[in-house]
Amino acid sequence: MRIIVTGGAGFIGSELIRQLVRETPWHVVNVDKLTYAGNTASLAEVLPSERYEFEKVDICDAVQIRRLIHNYKPQAILHLAAESHVDRSIDGPATFIETNIVGTYTLLEATRKYWSELDNHERNRFRFQHISTDEVYGSLGETGLFAETTPYSPNSPYSASKASSDHLVRAWHHTYGLPVLITNCSNNYGPYQYPEKLIPVIIENALKRKPIPVYGQGSNVRDWLYVADHARALRLVLEKGAVGETYNVGGQNERTNLQVVHTICDCLEKLRPCASNNSYRDLITFVKDRPGHDQRYAIDASKIKRELGWRPLEDFASGIRKTVQWYLENRAWCETALAGKYQGERLGLDITDRKAG
Ligand code: NAD
Repeated sequence: MRIIVTGGAGFIGSELIRQLVRETPWHVVNVDKLTYAGNTASLAEVLPSERYEFEKVDICDAVQIRRLIHNYKPQAILHLAAESHVDRSIDGPATFIETNIVGTYTLLEATRKYWSELDNHERNRFRFQHISTDEVYGSLGETGLFAETTPYSPNSPYSASKASSDHLVRAWHHTYGLPVLITNCSNNYGPYQYPEKLIPVIIENALKRKPIPVYGQGSNVRDWLYVADHARALRLVLEKGAVGETYNVGGQNERTNLQVVHTICDCLEKLRPCASNNSYRDLITFVKDRPGHDQRYAIDASKIKRELGWRPLEDFASGIRKTVQWYLENRAWCETALAGKYQGERLGLDITDRKAG
């Protein structure tokens, strides 16, 4: 089996590629533009493998994408490349429209041409899998869960661009018969996450004794999933998912942002205790909320459990412990990831707030 993974130098893509090279005999081609979020150091483990190849290509580059697909003749494409940070989408939506919508369209068109020229057996076997987010469903109140049938209601430029790409993928199935699969997953955490997202920011700032920013009152709820469990779900959907179907993936680990911060501070306290009379929790600082901040996300993952037998292996406590331990042991990765790219400045405030701040 030959697979193309787009966005394989990112957080989830690199976990997926490490698993695929470690646990399958498949040949994996990583197509990644290496934006600020892409880091080939996350793939050090697979570099020596003859079954791993890297192509530094932008998914919006139709000529290069057509060349790649024709040269490698994949049996599947797993599409993860995206601009993925909500705060950045507030500051600059253009790259989100470009990569997430136009890039997905470009990939779909090149894939359709390649797929339509395959023989019957290869055409039936081929899969295009789109990796998406639960944020396309909008925001929940205190109760309820997102099911695969929940109407789309995206609120941020990021989630609107992912919703658009989901619709394109569905349309390419419905109109052209392209064999697609879509997964919508809740918030991921784990090793190799770029240190601008909530969990690595908390760990990084705590270790540097810098204020730990909590948006608003810290009451927003997310449903957390350990990244290795997400990657396992993606593999299962690829192998057993029904063509044209959507699968929600989530860990049933609902936590307010403040609970997440407390859990990490307490975990750090055990693994690397603060000097006496100090506590990591003292660093918590409430800051102005994100504009349009969705209040609550929570996933009903019963379909992927029932139909494909997926189960997460980590609960929140074990996953957080592993994550904190990893960031403690991999300081060099964090410093390289951040070098010259992002210095912890506040992102995603509107212009008036930024001028005032
Ligand atoms: P990430 O930001 O860590 O990685 C994205 C990768 O895509 C990077 O390696 C980057 O270089 C690459 N990329 C960006 N633009 C590109 C382009 N134009 N051409 C080629 N490569 C490009 O993101 P992530 O957190 O690993 O998320 C991966 C996918 O999973 C995204 O599609 C995201 O929407 C989705 N997702 C993420 C989460 C989460 O919690 N992180 C949850 C659900 C779904």
